[in-house]
Amino acid sequence: MYDLIIIGGGPAGLTAGVYAVRSGLDTLVLERSEIGGQIALADIVENYPGLPSISGVELMEKYRSHAQGVGVKTKITDVLSIRSEGAKKIVSTDSGELESRAIIIATGANPKHLNVPGEREYVSKGVSYCALCDGPFFRNKTVAVIGGGNSAITDALLLSRIARKVYIVHRRDRLRATKILQDRAFTTSNIEFIFNSCVTEIVGSRGEIRRVEKIILKNLKSEEISELAADGVFIYVGIHPNTEIVNVEKDQEGFIKTSPSLETSEKGIYAAGDCRDTNIWQLVAAVRDGALAAIAANEYLESLNEQIK
Ligand code: NAP
Repeated sequence: MYDLIIIGGGPAGLTAGVYAVRSGLDTLVLERSEIGGQIALADIVENYPGLPSISGVELMEKYRSHAQGVGVKTKITDVLSIRSEGAKKIVSTDSGELESRAIIIATGANPKHLNVPGEREYVSKGVSYCALCDGPFFRNKTVAVIGGGNSAITDALLLSRIARKVYIVHRRDRLRATKILQDRAFTTSNIEFIFNSCVTEIVGSRGEIRRVEKIILKNLKSEEISELAADGVFIYVGIHPNTEIVNVEKDQEGFIKTSPSLETSEKGIYAAGDCRDTNIWQLVAAVRDGALAAIAANEYLESLNEQIK
């Protein structure tokens, strides 16, 4: 039986792993596909203290080698569910059951969908949720970015260096993104904003080669409907937490509720990073969470040891 199983190998999970091993805990990190999490998809990370400019992939490689170097064990497996049997935690995976005395959930979050006609149909045929992954397919083409948050503006800036023209479609007339990103977008010559508008449909060619051709927009003030020709649609309308595997208290959107020490509603189960009820989905916040959850899990395990004595 492990002392601690951490579910999720992103910044929160791997930081928790480093702290846990340094506290002497036998620690296993489980990850579904590749160690790295969402940040591995980031083109350039420019807001991590001490590393003024680093690619997401390079940063995660540093995390992975650091964690494995101090003795964090890692395993690629899909976690199906988690349950407690007294003080014992059982993690059910697609490759069998694993046992531990404490758990940290650091499963992160994924992009939300717009849920409009054509979105699902044209995924990978012009509809994307990741400019870093799919941007190069749109060299010298026209793309529409949907949303006004940091993800939308960061990726619109990335796309502006690849595509001929980038439209940013936002449902309000004020952006949610930080000012530095806004300033960059407003001064980029091939970015154009379409405010107070939402996408009602994504339309593409039919037949053998199906590709996005245009989006249908509705002006939310005038109710006017218009068409915008676009080869690609990049959607950034928020994120959905990956928390279905665990049956602890969550908020309306499924983010796990935590105490100040990041304990969930179940004793010995902690949550860290984007999957919990934070309002700062930032790398530094995930790293802070990982450290805090590992320290709290260690204190919990020490208290269990005291009870046994
Ligand atoms: P977000 O901040 O929640 O922004 C989502 C955007 O989508 C908002 O502008 C929202 O409009 C819009 N939206 C939501 N539902 C919509 C719908 N159904 N139709 C049209 N528009 C819709 O999400 P995010 O940009 O993915 O960022 C998530 C977190 O990661 C944030 O905390 C962000 O700061 C962080 N992040 C940071 C960086 C960075 O620091 N470089 C980069 C990326 C992400 P309203 O504004 O009207 O609500």
